[in-house]
Amino acid sequence: MNSQAPIDTDEAEPFPRRRTVAVDVGGVLVGGDAPVVVQSMTNTDTADADATVAQVAALARAGSEIVRITVDRDEAARAVPHIRDRLARLGVDVPLVGDFHYIGHKLLADHPACAEALAKYRINPGNVGFKDKKDRQFVAIVETAIRFDKTVRIGVNWGSLDQELLTRLMDENSASARPVSARAVMREAIIRSALLSAELAEETGLARERIILSAKVSNVQDLIAVYRDLSRRTDHALHLGLTEAGMGTKGVVASSAAMGILLQEGIGDTIRVSLTPEPGGDRTREVQVGQELLQTMGFRQFVPVVAACPGCGRTTSTVFQELAERIEGDLRRNMPVWRTRYPGVETLKVAVMGCIVNGPGESKHADIGISLPGTGETPAAPIFVDGKKVATLRGPNIAEDFEAMVQNYIERRFGVAAAPAAAAE
Ligand code: SF4
Repeated sequence: MNSQAPIDTDEAEPFPRRRTVAVDVGGVLVGGDAPVVVQSMTNTDTADADATVAQVAALARAGSEIVRITVDRDEAARAVPHIRDRLARLGVDVPLVGDFHYIGHKLLADHPACAEALAKYRINPGNVGFKDKKDRQFVAIVETAIRFDKTVRIGVNWGSLDQELLTRLMDENSASARPVSARAVMREAIIRSALLSAELAEETGLARERIILSAKVSNVQDLIAVYRDLSRRTDHALHLGLTEAGMGTKGVVASSAAMGILLQEGIGDTIRVSLTPEPGGDRTREVQVGQELLQTMGFRQFVPVVAACPGCGRTTSTVFQELAERIEGDLRRNMPVWRTRYPGVETLKVAVMGCIVNGPGESKHADIGISLPGTGETPAAPIFVDGKKVATLRGPNIAEDFEAMVQNYIERRFGVAAAPAAAAE
């Protein structure tokens, strides 16, 4: 084969999505043919209903399709139905997941209104109880899920791995003629914990259509190995996430690297990006990163794309960077309202370019684009709409004028009045 031949476009695709059993989480489908779902978790004290309602609403408006809250004590369990009611009054119907550890069986039994208000219960098999209590308490939660017709996520985490299971597998490995590394045993223990717990849940009577599995670790290579193996061994719907991914850039890169590879291989039905927010930081960032990951890889479209050049020595001003940031911020901020007002607006592509070298070309490929003047160029910014130059902006208000043109374009192309014309195209 000629090494200069172009790559066949069929090769520029992810592997086929791995087939899993579809699971309903309060009306949101996870697995089966459903698109990969983005979810998030609050960091408020659930007993503080005001703070929790505000954060769940913010996460949902940012695009989180499922939100998890901690249910760690009676006060939190008591608050859950009120949180659900108050969200409904705000028009926020995002399904809520309760995160239970150690006393989940008791909290669910003592607070049936909480059990009813939640769409899914998350159980960590390593934190459900010890020795003979372990299975009994796990089964009690599963029975509650059956009674209230709820879904369960069996969420194994390497930091709280079932120590009895790990010790048994370590002992078996030491006695084996061909022992593997301790790290490989740890990975096997994580997978085995998820699969054995799923088996117990199904023996208790919970349908496979009501079970989601996760097996989180904090090391990227281990996470990839664990999920590859897990996906080979079961058709349960899988929740992906790198635990303790960390703060800022490190957390974003680690999560994107690990989950990007797995998603490319068709593995994963729902994702959560576990970022440690900076003090006072915005919790919705984890939703934004999850959406960007799926959108960048071409799996889903959530927000319009702003293509901006990185800048170089041909431009000494930061005008185009500021404009790109401004446009991107506006688009994201407006999306909660625009999703319903302008159906399809998430497919919009805007270009903000820094000079004449790539500016006009990139702008022509966008729905609407601006090519700002580079150093030494005439102080004029040509505007391209649907591939054609339609105007040239000059003067001190270029940014405001371009923003107004973007808004007009959105109204014209995606506004309700535009629907019949668009449909007829
Ligand atoms: S478009 Fe111009 S300013 Fe932007 S990176 Fe390319 S050459 Fe540099």
